[in-house]
Amino acid sequence: MTLDLDAEVARLREQVAALHGELVRYNLVAWTAGNVSARVPGRELMVIKPSGVSYDDLRPDNMIVCDLDGVVVDGDLSPSSDTAAHAYVYRAMPEVGGVVHTHSGYATAWAACGEAIPCHLTAQADEFGGEIPVGPFALIGGDDIGKGIVATLSGHRSPAVLMRNHGVFTIGRDARSAVKAAVMCEDVARTAYLARSLGTPVPMAQADIDSLYHRYQNVYGQPGP
Ligand SMILES: [Zn+2]
Repeated sequence: MTLDLDAEVARLREQVAALHGELVRYNLVAWTAGNVSARVPGRELMVIKPSGVSYDDLRPDNMIVCDLDGVVVDGDLSPSSDTAAHAYVYRAMPEVGGVVHTHSGYATAWAACGEAIPCHLTAQADEFGGEIPVGPFALIGGDDIGKGIVATLSGHRSPAVLMRNHGVFTIGRDARSAVKAAVMCEDVARTAYLARSLGTPVPMAQADIDSLYHRYQNVYGQPGP
């Protein structure tokens, strides 16, 4: 590898290892389930979690570098069992720089019911621009999960999909954005569940959802330098 590529991969190994800590911090994962990956910008490569390693033992040096067919390029361990799904998304969606998968409890409950999360909250309009959609049932191994993610999220505002009877996949322009989407997806799924338990959530006007989404995506936050 060239010096530049080495430095970029080292940076992403560090970032991807650290972002796994966020999945734990926000209570999105149990045991070794869940995974984060990052595309190496401008390269046919990604950095992803090793399979079956405790979250406490994840470090930059045991992250795995794979090509976008899921073949290990650098790393001593086997990559995540969801590597094929991550790789498929990177091949099909060039704008995506990060992918996250969890079985976070509330969001996965909606996935178990095969039900999209309707948009009844401003926070959901901000982040997801509408409902959080359900993707098809797909068995692990091969490209079926990746195909389901891409088919559901292509042309959709939501960076999160609830894969039916399985769990959450999120995408982002980088790995940190995809982790944020996974955190916000679980937060919204929980509140939507609580609202449904209390009564009948009140629908929001599409124009309001559009306005909130536009503001949050384009205006919210600190001004740039
Ligand atoms: Zn899974």
